[in-house]
Amino acid sequence: MTVYAAPGTAGSIVEYKSRYDNFIGGEYVPPVKGQYFENITPVTGRPFTEISRGTAEDVERAVDAAEGASAAWGRTPPADRALVLNRIADRIEANLEQLAVAESWENGKPVRETLAADLPLAVDHFRYFAAAIRSQEGHSSQLDGDTVAYHFHEPLGVVGQIIPWNFPILMAVWKLAPALAAGNAVVLKPAEQTPASIHLLVDLITDLLPPGVLNVVNGFGVEVGKPLAQNKRIRKVAFTGETTTGRLIMQYASENLIPVTLELGGKSPNIFFSDVAAADDAFYDKALEGFTLFALNSGEVCTCPSRALIQSDIYDDFLGAAIERTRRITTGNPLDTATQIGAQASNDQLEKILSYIDIGKQEGARVALGGERLVHDGDLAGGYYVAPTIFEGHNKLRIFQEEIFGPVVSVARFDGYDDAIKTANDTLYGLGAGVWSRNGNTAYRAGRDIQAGRVWVNNYHAYPAHAAFGGYKQSGFGRENHQMMLDHYQQTKNLLVSYSENAL
Ligand code: NAD
Repeated sequence: MTVYAAPGTAGSIVEYKSRYDNFIGGEYVPPVKGQYFENITPVTGRPFTEISRGTAEDVERAVDAAEGASAAWGRTPPADRALVLNRIADRIEANLEQLAVAESWENGKPVRETLAADLPLAVDHFRYFAAAIRSQEGHSSQLDGDTVAYHFHEPLGVVGQIIPWNFPILMAVWKLAPALAAGNAVVLKPAEQTPASIHLLVDLITDLLPPGVLNVVNGFGVEVGKPLAQNKRIRKVAFTGETTTGRLIMQYASENLIPVTLELGGKSPNIFFSDVAAADDAFYDKALEGFTLFALNSGEVCTCPSRALIQSDIYDDFLGAAIERTRRITTGNPLDTATQIGAQASNDQLEKILSYIDIGKQEGARVALGGERLVHDGDLAGGYYVAPTIFEGHNKLRIFQEEIFGPVVSVARFDGYDDAIKTANDTLYGLGAGVWSRNGNTAYRAGRDIQAGRVWVNNYHAYPAHAAFGGYKQSGFGRENHQMMLDHYQQTKNLLVSYSENAL
């Protein structure tokens, strides 16, 4: 096991600048209004660097730079763009450990995850979209003997991307890789809680991209995100964040009639059918592990399996074993590779989760495990930690209906198949779901009957680049990952050509 030294202390592999400006046109540019804010690590609750507080003027500058770069980048042959993406992947891979520690320090997530998942997935994402753009083909159709309709893929131009704080680098990469592969120039707005690791990434890859192709404007939602989404010169806005913010983004984008993709919140069901039960076999063990994944990334995952539905006849035994399994999760210093659950990303998020824990108690749900803030010793004492929490109740309670975004699962029982599906679908959201069954028919039917964009069957929380990801219902629309994502960053040019010498 390794405990990485905290940034700012002797032996740390991460070095931050004392402040980060906006990254525009290939260089760091101070914000027009000259304001900065503190970036705080949730690991200790202390500030570690300063971030530029951008405004609409900075967004305009970034769009100027992106506009200046977009035509040439769009005309760059796909094979050359693919080469750049592959080089970016190599650069991330070569600096994986440093980026992983930085991501943990800024977001509070355990370094074992950033090392094993966030950063390797980011690397793979660039490689996947390098291959996707390289192999993309257009279509042609012959309309008659002399007339042909050609269909070409063209980039949109300048695109705006607004991302959340829960997987800072990966959420950026999910958007950047397809947008850059497709030949667009980007203005990216990181979440105000987690911009620094994105700047470490930008610093690593800046020499690989022509200036202006990738621009980053830091700051707050209303001050930077809103003018970006309203900007008359961007051709698309891609957003990941809360459903309430997604509604606003759609309004802003409607002013200029530009396309929007929205990856929003969730309240995902994780359904355990009674046939999972069998003492001490590998599949049962896997299902129990699947239950505990509500606490992965401290529950700050849009697809967090935050509602566990367990069939009545196995309910007591399965839940008892799942509680014991959850109790054994190691919580603590995110920079220790032994830690499985680290800190919540911000003090606001900590308070929101604690208030939902109070709501659950007041609603009459039973606390089966946790239900409190965790206070660790030493430097971690000021950090934002919550004990993995298991509530028992029913699906009408607020803790079953509202997104908590913390290590909190609400558990209910169901009787038969129809009951399970009805309860699973009784939610505003439709992002993810889990189905656990040894019976192929049950698993397949449930997978098809659940109204969610991603249903994991006998697994959970896998995010490969080549599987489409996105929401049904109020979890948004559009997809990320998979080559179909290129459609969201391209438009179709139809060239209708007559090769006839004859008059029309
Ligand atoms: P948020 O909506 O508060 O913020 C997301 C981003 O939008 C931030 O960069 C923020 O500054 C910006 N923003 C806020 N208000 C804005 C406004 N008025 N105009 C323009 N931009 C604005 O979300 P969050 O709290 O950062 O992230 C958590 C949410 O993200 C959760 O709801 C989670 O489910 C969701 N999420 C969804 C997915 C997915 O793929 N569906 C993935 C990760 C997170």
